[in-house]
Amino acid sequence: MSDNAQAPATLYIDGRWVPSSSGETRTIVCPADGTEVGVVSEATAADTEVAIAAARRAFERGEWASTPAVERGDLLLSVADELVRRKDEFARAEALDTGKRLVEAEGDMDDIAACFRFYGKIADQHPGRLVDAGDPSVISKVVYEPIGVCGMITPWNFPLLQASWKIAPALACGNSFVIKPSEMTPHTTILILDVLDKLGLPAGVANLVLGDGKTVGAPLSSHPDVDLVSFTGGLATGRAIAAAAAPGIKKVALELGGKNPNVVFADADFEAAVDNALNAGFLDSGLVCSAGTRLVIEESIAERFVDELVSRAEGIVMGGPFDEKAETGPLISAAHRDKVTDYVERGVSAGATLRTGGNWGGPEHEKGFFYAPTVLVGCDRDNPAVIEEGFGPVITVETFSTEAEAIEIANSTEYGLAGAVWTSDSGTANRVSRALRHGTIWINDYHPYVPQAEWGGFKMSGIGRELGPTGLEEYREAKHIYENTEPAVSGWFPKK
Ligand code: NAD
Repeated sequence: MSDNAQAPATLYIDGRWVPSSSGETRTIVCPADGTEVGVVSEATAADTEVAIAAARRAFERGEWASTPAVERGDLLLSVADELVRRKDEFARAEALDTGKRLVEAEGDMDDIAACFRFYGKIADQHPGRLVDAGDPSVISKVVYEPIGVCGMITPWNFPLLQASWKIAPALACGNSFVIKPSEMTPHTTILILDVLDKLGLPAGVANLVLGDGKTVGAPLSSHPDVDLVSFTGGLATGRAIAAAAAPGIKKVALELGGKNPNVVFADADFEAAVDNALNAGFLDSGLVCSAGTRLVIEESIAERFVDELVSRAEGIVMGGPFDEKAETGPLISAAHRDKVTDYVERGVSAGATLRTGGNWGGPEHEKGFFYAPTVLVGCDRDNPAVIEEGFGPVITVETFSTEAEAIEIANSTEYGLAGAVWTSDSGTANRVSRALRHGTIWINDYHPYVPQAEWGGFKMSGIGRELGPTGLEEYREAKHIYENTEPAVSGWFPKK
């Protein structure tokens, strides 16, 4: 961070682009090579308060909440159209901020457009319901109303995707919001606010503050004028946010980390299972909350499977966003790479054997924050590498000999975000998928998701669900209205 009188107008507050009140700025670098990507304003706690006040005023004015739901949906559909039209610009910005490959960033932009399209289409589909109150003279109905001002705090791994899972349903329901993206990856969130601005969203409905968790995220989590805080990020931050929100009995939605088991039975399609075990653990350098970094494999095929996995992992090419040969990218920062390095070292100290990786790549990777695809075998259940979310390209391997043991291992984690089962037996697939205590289960696949289906975690992977119709629930309150059309004396308290 630095002081700069020329701070750029990259905060969006009350319908205007403004610089930070302190003039402080932050330089964003591409983690693939450390080159400067841009300079943005660094908001103060006071700027955050101003944004919250603007969101509150906009909500109290009621302009957006009283806009017909069909029109709110139309605006979201227009956002999707704009994302398609400006896809190259958005994908390039995302790739530069995160260091991920351009082709992955392009895929993210398609998913983001699909999310806006989904909520655009269902914005008017869930207005409420009539209830049979058991009395023909009574009209009893449940209506849904926007929750109010939403604070949104998002991570750096899928910056705009995670933001879109919050912005689209929040706007569909008629809320106003203040969003804080990760301080390391602000650019696509700036761009989406530009889209909302140009589409004419009323001033104050959408607000953007850039900055770190302590200065900007903390007030969003505790401010009395914020009705809901929706957070995606790590478990420790989730705990801090839940604690900060508790005194105000603020509604909290948490999408946290995972330690996701990828369970492979001996009867699985071997080639497909190996190939997808690589995708599960190493896609996007394992920087996916649902990454299948805990390989749980049937003993009888373990040796052959791991040999093949290791050999293919060694062939994965790391590189920057625009390197056409690259198959995966860097971690987000030097500090993050140190964390992954320490995580692997602690796993090895606790008895795991390093089969491949455990290094920062060759000299060509020195300018960026790379970490080579890594496989740890011989992992005990209490090895820290098995217990903790490493959040890097590191697969740990455990073996089982019975279905019950596979289920037990796969559920022996405080997390519960996602997992997979590989088998050619539909009975096994059905039993195991139902027994796993995780919010998403893939059978003979890994990673696909659709915005129509709910996403979220059991146990310490979170509270609530994003996506699907349930994604709307986070952003609205149910109200019961009971009308007696034939008012009468109840006689409960007799006249004296
Ligand atoms: P993080 O928790 O470090 O940061 C996330 C956001 O919280 C950032 O914007 C950060 O500035 C902010 N923050 C930090 N401290 C704060 C505080 N005290 N109060 C308020 N805000 C604060 O997470 P990260 O490193 O950016 O992202 C990686 C994590 O996110 C991983 O654990 C990953 O599993 C998780 N994640 C989960 C999902 C999901 O859908 N469940 C999706 C993506 C990422």
